[in-house]
Amino acid sequence: MRILVTGGAGFVGSHLIDRLMAQGHEVLCLDNFYTGHKRNILQWLDNPYFEFIRHDVTEPIRLEVDQIYHLACPASPVHYQYNPVKTVKTSVMGTLNMLGLAKRVKARLLLASTSEVYGDPDVHPQTEEYRGNVNPIGIRACYDESKRVAETLCFDYHRQNKVDIRVARIFNTYGSRMLENDGRVVSNFVVQALKGIPLTVYGDGSQTRSFCYVSDLVEGLMRLMNGDYVGPVNLGNPDEYTILELAQKIQNMVNPDADIQFAPLPSDDPKQRQPDITKAKTLLGWEPTVPLQEGLKLTVEDFRQRLGASS
Ligand code: NAD
Ligand code: UDP
Ligand code: UDP
Repeated sequence: MRILVTGGAGFVGSHLIDRLMAQGHEVLCLDNFYTGHKRNILQWLDNPYFEFIRHDVTEPIRLEVDQIYHLACPASPVHYQYNPVKTVKTSVMGTLNMLGLAKRVKARLLLASTSEVYGDPDVHPQTEEYRGNVNPIGIRACYDESKRVAETLCFDYHRQNKVDIRVARIFNTYGSRMLENDGRVVSNFVVQALKGIPLTVYGDGSQTRSFCYVSDLVEGLMRLMNGDYVGPVNLGNPDEYTILELAQKIQNMVNPDADIQFAPLPSDDPKQRQPDITKAKTLLGWEPTVPLQEGLKLTVEDFRQRLGASS
């Protein structure tokens, strides 16, 4: 098949491309390098079945493809809040353009949506039926609300134009190739521990997250894309930790001498998050296989090599 991956030079997208190329597909990677990097796709640049398109997804584009994994959008709060208007444009206009493309060429489109559509949830764990608790005017809204609109667009194109869609609600995912300055919690703590500087826990660290290793997520995305269920489907690892527990885990693993420092909690930071993955288990036969301890080891090793190489 000929498969388009938008945001393919980013963290999740590049891992997905590795799997698609290994399966023998022809892959088109579309990215504007906002948070993505050429080194993530370097190994494929000379491959005749791989094509890189430097393009901003907010602009229309005509391509001929069978499937579209639509991932283009910054995912870390630091990056999506840097230019919030651009984040809304990327998520809304980008998804509109990809749906227009999917409609024209009759391609199946999978949207990388997010657990952020549940906001600061008052239902725990979160099922797909929960409609969320999002602050529409807060600093996270540019991401949360625009992903909600992206989901709306998918379902309206599905109902109105019969576009074949899949919607994944992705929960916190980590792994190799995260940017050193990504700003998300796992990469921050690992980089801090490796550099021997204090690990910055925001608030008192009692807020929770559930962390999925990237290879597990990619497997879930591919099963959703190639299955019959439209979604939305939660994809994440249900093992839930407080942020302080995560800091201590990484501290013990990497550098017991590194301090833990408390910093102010950003506004609208969700207090708890854990996916209910019953749907993914029963409809896709999918569940995560990489425990946090193991995934963290792989992530630490990747950062160790990259930090070593850059110093
Ligand atoms: P990432 O920032 O590493 O990747 C995003 C990619 O999109 C980057 O390569 C970036 O350059 C590209 N991009 C951004 N704006 C663009 C634009 N206007 N035009 C073209 N390309 C653009 O993030 P990620 O963690 O790989 O996330 C991928 C997708 O998964 C995102 O849609 C994100 O919302 C979703 N998601 C990720 C997580 C997670 O924990 N990683 C959780 C929920 C949802
Ligand atoms: N679009 C695109 N590539 C295509 C087809 C459409 O980028 O191959 C864009 C198109 O420019 C528009 C959006 O997708 O901005 C929605 O397209 P649609 O055909 O649904 O709506 P319309 O063009 O009528 O607004
Ligand atoms: N966080 C933290 N220290 C950091 C970065 C993040 O304590 O250096 C916290 C953040 O406040 C949030 C959690 O870790 O409660 C997860 O943050 P991240 O940005 O990774 O993802 P999201 O908030 O989008 O789930």
